[in-house]
Amino acid sequence: MVKTRLAPSPTGALHLGNARTFLVNWALARRRGWRILLRIEDLDGPRVKPEAAAGILETLRWLGLDWDEGPLVQSDDLEPYRAAIRRLAEEGRAFPCSLTRGQIEAAASAPQEGAHDVRYPRELRPRAWERRFEDAATNWRFLVPERPVAFVDAVYGPQSVSPAAIVGDFVVWTKRGVPAYQLAVVVDDHRQGVTEVVRGADLLDSAARQLLLYRALGLGPEPSYTHLPLVIGPDGSRLAKRHGDSRLDRYRALGVRPERVIGLLARWCGLEAGELSASEFREAFELARVPREPVVFTPEDDSALTRPGPPPRGTPPQAR
Ligand code: GLU
Repeated sequence: MVKTRLAPSPTGALHLGNARTFLVNWALARRRGWRILLRIEDLDGPRVKPEAAAGILETLRWLGLDWDEGPLVQSDDLEPYRAAIRRLAEEGRAFPCSLTRGQIEAAASAPQEGAHDVRYPRELRPRAWERRFEDAATNWRFLVPERPVAFVDAVYGPQSVSPAAIVGDFVVWTKRGVPAYQLAVVVDDHRQGVTEVVRGADLLDSAARQLLLYRALGLGPEPSYTHLPLVIGPDGSRLAKRHGDSRLDRYRALGVRPERVIGLLARWCGLEAGELSASEFREAFELARVPREPVVFTPEDDSALTRPGPPPRGTPPQAR
């Protein structure tokens, strides 16, 4: 069975960037007959706001999206993740690490790029460690092989990514007692039968880390990947609050109809569509027309969404 997942992190309300990804994922699935699972990824520690999940589901429904399974919630059962880290530990593929980010940065020979990934230099690997995972307050890191990982992305084409050069031995289990994103997503996608991963291009590099984990855990088949260009602000950085409030709830509260929001998302996907419903988007969407370059959300886009205007042709306003 071909299956995909919508995997929101309940760290805040859905904004236009997330909405674009979910709309495309949903449209691909419904066009191609894939099953859709909804998974709440709530292991992201302090950033998680428990009340955000319900709001995200409600907003997805408002847009006109639906799903066949779930919502499944990651934090409901940590045992499958523990089984995976136990296996990595016993096979000597992961090691405990109590170094702080600052200590790792100080030890790294080359300057570090980006705020997120601190590369763990090989030289810091312990020489020996106990090959037994205990749910102690310690991070566990995956021993990353030196060679790059090759895979094909449906949008970006053939990739060769070297996790060793980008992040080094990355964290798979956190000292907070929960799996890190990379491990959780592999365990879940595998056990939930997910074969198609569709998400933002900020995770393109992560696909290589995840493939390493599939292989280390002996899991398969490996999923197919479709990464979508990032939505950025006019300053070139990833869409964030400083670019204006692009939360869908805000537009909804202002009386903006979902068709108008989808019209903007459709334009970002290379369609010249005006206003359209989710099912009209599903029919019009073509992956081949999605641009490879990041999409820029401008203040003009925001005013175009919120400007008063006639309802779209053919849909009486009282229909909703
Ligand atoms: N939960 C992640 C996010 O909202 C998505 C992870 C994934 O699709 O692998 O960014």
